[in-house]
Formats: sequence, C-alpha cells, structure tokens
Amino acid sequence: MRAGRIQISTREFTVVDLQTPTPEADEVLIKVMAAGVCLSDVHLLRGSITPGFLKGDVVTMGHEVAGIVESVGEKVTKFAAGDRVIVCAGVRDQFNRVTTMGFDYDGGFAEYVVAGADTLVRVPETLPFEQACIIPDAVSTPWAAITQTAAVKPNESVLLFGVGGLGLHAVQLLKIVGAGPIVAVDPIAKARERALAAGADYALDPTDPEFLGTAKEVMRGAGFNVAFDFVGSGSARNQSLRLLGEGGRLVIVGLANEAIVIPSDITFSFKRNQILGHYGSTTRHTIEIVQMIAAKKLNLSGSISEVLPLEEAATALSHLEDKVGNPIRIILKP
Ligand SMILES: [Zn+2]
Repeated sequence: MRAGRIQISTREFTVVDLQTPTPEADEVLIKVMAAGVCLSDVHLLRGSITPGFLKGDVVTMGHEVAGIVESVGEKVTKFAAGDRVIVCAGVRDQFNRVTTMGFDYDGGFAEYVVAGADTLVRVPETLPFEQACIIPDAVSTPWAAITQTAAVKPNESVLLFGVGGLGLHAVQLLKIVGAGPIVAVDPIAKARERALAAGADYALDPTDPEFLGTAKEVMRGAGFNVAFDFVGSGSARNQSLRLLGEGGRLVIVGLANEAIVIPSDITFSFKRNQILGHYGSTTRHTIEIVQMIAAKKLNLSGSISEVLPLEEAATALSHLEDKVGNPIRIILKP
C-alpha cells in the first residue's frame, strides 16, 4: 500500500510503498476513504511537536481517519467487513499512557490503517467520509474542550482565539450549548467572516491596536467567563488573561511548546482565574458529534475546503501551513 511517512530525526516526509498491516485479534483493518490534515501535522513536520511514545524513527502520519472495515481480528465481534467507521485518534497503551495515532503509532495518511476495535465509531450512510474523518479531532476536540474541560454553561460569554479547523467548529458547538456572546478572534479577515457566518456574535482582529478596548466594550467591562486558545499563541494567552472576568477560565487547546506566561499574578489571583490544559477527546465525544449530525443539529458540509489525493500529502501540508486558499480542513483521499 501507499503511505505518507515522516522520519522524526530528519523531519523528512515522503509517500512510500509499505506492507499492508495485519490486524491483531482485537484490531480491525480499515480501508481509508478520507483523512484530514491538521495543524498538528504541520507542527510534527516542522519539529515543534515530537512523538513521546513512538517505537523507532518513522511513522505514518494522519490522526483524522474515516473508512470501510476491510477485515477484523478473530476476537472482534462488533464490526464486520463493509462497516463505515471513524477511527478515534488516541488510545491508552499497556502502561495507561495516552498515545496518539499518526504520532506514536501509524496513522491514516495511507491506503489502509489498523486500529483497535474499541476506538471505532460507526458512521451513518448519510454522512460522507470527507466530513466524517475530521470529527475525531477538528470537531470532537473542541466539543470535549467546551463541554468537559471548560464546562461552558448557557449564557456564558466566550472569547475564542483562532478560527481555523478547530475554532470554526467551536463557534458552531458553542451556539449549540447556548453560550454567548461569542467573540471570535483571528487576524485573517476571511476567518473572521466565516466565524460570523457560523454564528459568532463578534469577530475581532487581535493585531488591531484597539483590540483590548473593543473586546472590553463588548462585555461592558465585565470580562469573559471563558477564553479558548485554539492557536497555541503566547499573545492569544496574554490577551485572554487580560480579558477574563472574575472566575474566568482560559483553556489551552492549541499547542506551541512554550511557557505559559501570566501577565500579572495579582490580577490573576484577584480575579480567581484558572488556566486549564486540554488534549483531544474520547470516543464518547465522537459518538455525540455523530449523533448531533444525524439529528441535524450540526452540519459539517461547509468544513471541507480542499480534497487532494494521498500522493499530494506534502502539498496539503504546505497549503495548511501557508494558509493557501484560507483552509478550514484539507482532506486526503488515497
Ligand atoms: Zn489534530
């Protein structure tokens, strides 16, 4: 089979021929129909993320995968050849550590991928693979950040940095939980436009010298209940902490591999603020997203900005990195 692989020591990415894997007793072999390209993949390519638990030096990238079950291991009873499935991106290894597909073990930039049967979620016929594949990270990660880590309540005010793949879905999901006002922040005008189209109440440019003042005006000086950093940016975190209100919490979703700086410990403690780390989602969150789509509460048809063949995976990564075509999610099809 063909597979897009990265050598960690050199960060060299190439699409190569590889032996099609064989599932173990509790695993499933999946024919990949679509795989999403995430900014974390760009971080892996550029060296700002390094796999923590990879055995060896080379890994097949891709942690957003949907496809059709090709064959199942002897102990698998819940899935059979022909089933349409999403693969959830993280599993706990034998030492109970969270390992991530496409980083710590082979992922879905490939014609086939092997996954544990307990990491699969069924996809209804009505949901195209291109939309299904992005759910495990681009949609379920913000869903887990909103409902679990931040535990956003109806009517809470939210400041959200970064209207890319995760942030745009976060706007839609915050509307579903009844949050508001929702203030989306992104330096790119097109990204701000799509935040408003997705239901944000305001969309602001963080590079505008008036930004802090304008954001404060929105809240009439009260400060925000919740801020999300979907970028992984020191300035987003700094601005968030300045704009949080009493009891406000900042949730870190985007990663930059750098220190988190609190601008003033006095203000931070006086306002009893909290900074919360967030990572990924569980199978439950992915199932909830699939259910919301089936119930027509959520629509991902606008989320796919480009579809490229697997052989052009390197192009897809550079399009995402350089924001060519203002991408939301770029999809690879083997
Ligand atoms: Zn991702």
